[in-house]
Amino acid sequence: MTASETVSGNVTNRDWISTGQLPTEDVVRDLVSEAHARFAPVQEGDVASYIPALAEASPAHFGICVAAAGGLLVEAGDAQQSFSIQSLSKPFLFALICQAIGEDAAREKLGVNSTGLPFNSVLAVERSGEGLSNPMVNAGAIAATSLVPGDSAEAKWAFIQEGFSRFAGRPLAIDQRVYASEIATNRRNVGIASLLQEQERIWFDPEASTDLYTRQCALSVTARDLAVMAATLANGGRQPCTREQVIAPLICQHVLAVMVTAGLYETSGDWLYDTGLPGKSGVSGGMITVSPGKGGLATYSPPLDEAGNSVRGQLTARFLSERLGLNLFASRPVEPG
Ligand code: GLN
Repeated sequence: MTASETVSGNVTNRDWISTGQLPTEDVVRDLVSEAHARFAPVQEGDVASYIPALAEASPAHFGICVAAAGGLLVEAGDAQQSFSIQSLSKPFLFALICQAIGEDAAREKLGVNSTGLPFNSVLAVERSGEGLSNPMVNAGAIAATSLVPGDSAEAKWAFIQEGFSRFAGRPLAIDQRVYASEIATNRRNVGIASLLQEQERIWFDPEASTDLYTRQCALSVTARDLAVMAATLANGGRQPCTREQVIAPLICQHVLAVMVTAGLYETSGDWLYDTGLPGKSGVSGGMITVSPGKGGLATYSPPLDEAGNSVRGQLTARFLSERLGLNLFASRPVEPG
């Protein structure tokens, strides 16, 4: 028996999973409303402008949605406001790739270690020597996109759009304005893709892979969609509303591990310190937080900090992680006897 067989030999026995549940519906409703009232007045942060269309977002928009693994949805504020998914696509794309090629092959091809650098760092690709990064930053996500099954760009796009729609439980469409705006200005991502080609870390045409990545970042979602998508990752890959098994339970835990490592890029350590949970941000102002076994939290608020993470989103996640009792590292001493 090899070392990896020894490890995965235990995986089928999942009786030891014990993650508890969210508090009662009333408590969740009160806390979600309280979070909204508490953080709506916060004025810090700047709306992203390096993709020109994103600069049009309203800094006042603020939505929160909690989706329980059992399907309960609790919203406050602008939870049904549409915005482009941006980097929040990354964990879901990685999940679909793991499902398609296996989680070991995905790790070997893309890497799963933090870069400690901004999401669009070129240096990260150079520094690792072998072109490895992780699927939560642009380099790893563009490489992951190149691995999408299908012989043509259109076949690959169909796979991506269908896969994301299964996570959301409804057909998702591209925000064409955001897509056109990013395509006209994304020379850095094109550069990253060509660096990956030099390092033999991309498996489809680099320009076409960047285009597919950009399309997927322009998919239009709401905080409500994202909460349900996050709850799918919290629920062993089963969509809590449609009950469809979108990805295998084992894939979920690997996706969450990489979100913990790199979901908030170079500030992933601060995030984990505050929330104790896997999370992911995007430059349009969305954030997701996953509480395994319990559910998903999503927020939408466009003003960002310097690393590109929503300011109100981080405050909300920290508050709700604490008050809903979600932190994965929290424990109580066992009473003797
Ligand atoms: N499409 C964006 C980009 O590639 C996504 C970045 C993000 O949300 N952090 O720059």
